[in-house]
Amino acid sequence: MKQRVLIVGASVGGATAAITLQSLGIEAVLLERELVKAKPCGGAIPPAAFREFDLPQHLIDRKVKNCLIVSPSGQETCVPVAGTIPSADDYVAMVRREVFDSYLRERAQERGATLIHGALSNLEINRSGVVATYRDPAGKEHTLAADVVIGADGAYSPTAKFLGLASMPRAVAIQERIALPPEKMARWEDTADLYLGYEVSPDLYSWAFPKRDHIAVGIGAGPGHTQAAKQLLANLKRRLGSDLDGGRLLLREAHALPMHPRKHMAFDRVMLIGDAAGLVVHTSGEGIYWAMKSAEMAAQVLADYLDVPSARYLRIYEKRWWRQYGTMYRFLRWLQWWGYGNERQMEVFTEMCRNQDVQRLTFDSYMHKQMAPAPWLVQMRMTRDILVSQVRNYVARRTPVRELSPA
Ligand SMILES: Cc1cc2nc3c(=O)[nH]c(=O)nc-3n(C[C@H](O)[C@H](O)[C@H](O)COP(=O)(O)OP(=O)(O)OC[C@H]3O[C@@H](n4cnc5c(N)ncnc54)[C@H](O)[C@@H]3O)c2cc1C
Repeated sequence: MKQRVLIVGASVGGATAAITLQSLGIEAVLLERELVKAKPCGGAIPPAAFREFDLPQHLIDRKVKNCLIVSPSGQETCVPVAGTIPSADDYVAMVRREVFDSYLRERAQERGATLIHGALSNLEINRSGVVATYRDPAGKEHTLAADVVIGADGAYSPTAKFLGLASMPRAVAIQERIALPPEKMARWEDTADLYLGYEVSPDLYSWAFPKRDHIAVGIGAGPGHTQAAKQLLANLKRRLGSDLDGGRLLLREAHALPMHPRKHMAFDRVMLIGDAAGLVVHTSGEGIYWAMKSAEMAAQVLADYLDVPSARYLRIYEKRWWRQYGTMYRFLRWLQWWGYGNERQMEVFTEMCRNQDVQRLTFDSYMHKQMAPAPWLVQMRMTRDILVSQVRNYVARRTPVRELSPA
């Protein structure tokens, strides 16, 4: 009998796993509980995703070519989106998840994957296979047998829960999508904004990301700040001020973001990918590309070991993952700690974004997922500039915007 893989969650990670498995000749069944509402998300995606997954450009609402970074004191740095070697591929893609995810699901179905509308309600894993129970939208229970299950079911991963794994530390992110008159949208023609400061995000960042006909404004806040999230978003909107005049609220949405990768991402007959495995990078809260890459890598390893799907073999996936991306993850985690650690560091971070060496390194790693070590002369130049900026900001404190103009 042909082997079958059940994928729980048909968002970016799940759909990519199904596409990869089907193209390797393995039957993939996608189980998704929500086929109407989009996953809450800023929808910023690096061009590498479009190249590597052969995605059509029509999925892109806007190509962001400039990034405006605003520090807690209102210090502004406008960074052109450009890597070390300038190319037409220098942009950040802005997508709407409802469009992007639907496309990937359709591609998975075109490749032969089955898509079931239902919510996983139980999972049994035994020596001979996996038996999943799910509830369809009418509330009726069904069972489904498979050889292996891939948990692509996000930050709250029910698959991980059924395995008995502890839940991961999570950040919260909330966002409003606001339709703006064309003259207001012009301000964000090809620019995205990042705002830093305790009043808008104590330990991550807040954003204004342009879509085709609306702006998505949102905040991320680490564990312990969930209660403050609504107030942080209100503060962000106050900071955006008249830029949002005439705006009409389309949608308010919120979801969790995992803050740490899981210790293990593969078990007997089970693999976890994307948010379910905790694969979000900290500085940018970026998870779409990583969900797709982990899906692809997990599916490729699974194809080689589907006859013997024990933890021992399936963990080749996690070994490969950390070999390939471990340095980048560690660097970006350090960058979050260094750049968003406190408001003075946020000032230093904003200032350092003016440094061309820092800009190139940042965008090479974001856009093209390349992290080549900089030449030693460049490293020395950056170190000197960072030290000067650190000292300057620690000797003379900049006044946060909220202290200049209290609410
Ligand atoms: C507000 C916000 C803004 C963000 N902005 C960005 C950004 O700009 N760029 C970026 O790269 N990343 C961003 N992220 C992170 C990004 O959204 C995630 O990292 C990415 O969606 C992870 O993909 P995934 O496929 O692993 O999981 P998800 O996209 O979370 O998908 C999980 C799927 O599993 C389904 N599911 C869950 N439980 C069940 C069940 N019991 N049965 C069946 N199906 C189930 C869900 O319905 C969902 O479709 C943001 C996140 C948030 C919350």
